[in-house]
Amino acid sequence: MGVRHKDEVTPFEAMQARFWTAVDKLGLDHGFAKILEQPERELHVSIPVVMDDGSIKVFEGYRVQHNTVRGPAKGGIRFDKNVSSNEVQALAAWMTWKCAVVDIPFGGGKGGVICDPSTLSMGELERITRRFVTRIMDIIGPDRDIPAPDVNTTAQVMAWFYDTYSMHTRQWHAGVVTGKPVEMGGSKGREEATGFGVYICAREACKVKGTELAEKKIIVQGFGNVGSWFAKFAHDDGAKITAVADITGIVYNKKGLDIPTLKTWAKEHRGIKGFKDAEEISIEDFYSLECDIFAPCALENAINSENADKIKARFIVEGANGPTTPAADVILEEKDIHVVPDILCNAGGVVGSYFEWVQNRQGIFWDKETVLRRIEEKMIESYHKVYKVREDYDTKMRAAAYILAVKLVADVAKMRGIYA
Ligand code: NAD
Repeated sequence: MGVRHKDEVTPFEAMQARFWTAVDKLGLDHGFAKILEQPERELHVSIPVVMDDGSIKVFEGYRVQHNTVRGPAKGGIRFDKNVSSNEVQALAAWMTWKCAVVDIPFGGGKGGVICDPSTLSMGELERITRRFVTRIMDIIGPDRDIPAPDVNTTAQVMAWFYDTYSMHTRQWHAGVVTGKPVEMGGSKGREEATGFGVYICAREACKVKGTELAEKKIIVQGFGNVGSWFAKFAHDDGAKITAVADITGIVYNKKGLDIPTLKTWAKEHRGIKGFKDAEEISIEDFYSLECDIFAPCALENAINSENADKIKARFIVEGANGPTTPAADVILEEKDIHVVPDILCNAGGVVGSYFEWVQNRQGIFWDKETVLRRIEEKMIESYHKVYKVREDYDTKMRAAAYILAVKLVADVAKMRGIYA
């Protein structure tokens, strides 16, 4: 994952393939569409850091603003060794389309630092974060561009982010990042928001196909923020999570894994490997497992032309961003698998972030039930809007989500006009 397979495309090319399909279905002028395709701005920075042993390392970081016609850029910060300009551009564009699918007043942004957090101490992580903030702070801000957590970045990283920004501007700026600790202006329910949204999509997908989530056999790839919360909500609703994969291994129990205990285990052991009451299986066996729902919740390109054919699920709910390559899409279509695409399926996170930003602006905080209820309403409404476009255009869910999003962004871009 996160790597290129021989017959596959880069993440940005994957985004472009879906974007241009939507452009043609909508009959948009190609010259005009080019404005929406390309990122508005990319900042590439160097981040010098003194390591714990006294040596100096220079890390590379990016912040990309893809499109801001509908509002300030919004999108997470990823710390990972596979971060690249191309990946961050794709992630920023997906944020533009995602915010439009769920109709919240944000554009798309994303950032990343090339590093391997598993080899860094807390002090090193803090210094990388703070120096990165100072490098990109000219282009971020509560009304410009609002970062959030993504792969390997936590509420603590957001706390350092917020603190550094506020120290430099000498003002209180809670709305500069979302996904902060609740004690310092974060929103209740934000932590579980993305996984919760994936669960709502899985539930709605079952409903439109005349079935229920309860008793469904589910396999989950990635057991971090998104995967573990999705698994928890689905488990609590009576589904059987039979297999879970993460970077440390894959655990399987045909009767269903005890998800709350697995969550505790993963926290204590920094991964799922060695979990009792389960057998370990290979990655090949994982993809071929008999199941109803497959939830990719790790990184890009997880479902590609080398493994798509093995998948036996009836539904795929994309918790991760860009987990399916365009080549794999064709195979999944032939197999008639109902795919809930990333820009809809994992949008619960940005909806939760939007609610955090709203609360920060209001200075009034909502209880967790209110936050989750509002996320649920937004996700149900969005799922059915996409489903209707799918029927109107006689297409698949992914194409429908892009058609809905590109149309909304294009409409606003036209109303605003091309300046000068
Ligand atoms: P995380 O860092 O909390 O968890 C990532 C998980 O993926 C970990 O369990 C890790 O072990 C696993 N993983 C990494 N490489 C793997 C591999 N090769 N095989 C199997 N598992 C592997 O990250 P997260 O926040 O849960 O994000 C996961 C995905 O969801 C990313 O694509 C991210 O962009 C997307 N996403 C996250 C949010 C959010 O709110 N956190 C919102 C929308 C989308």
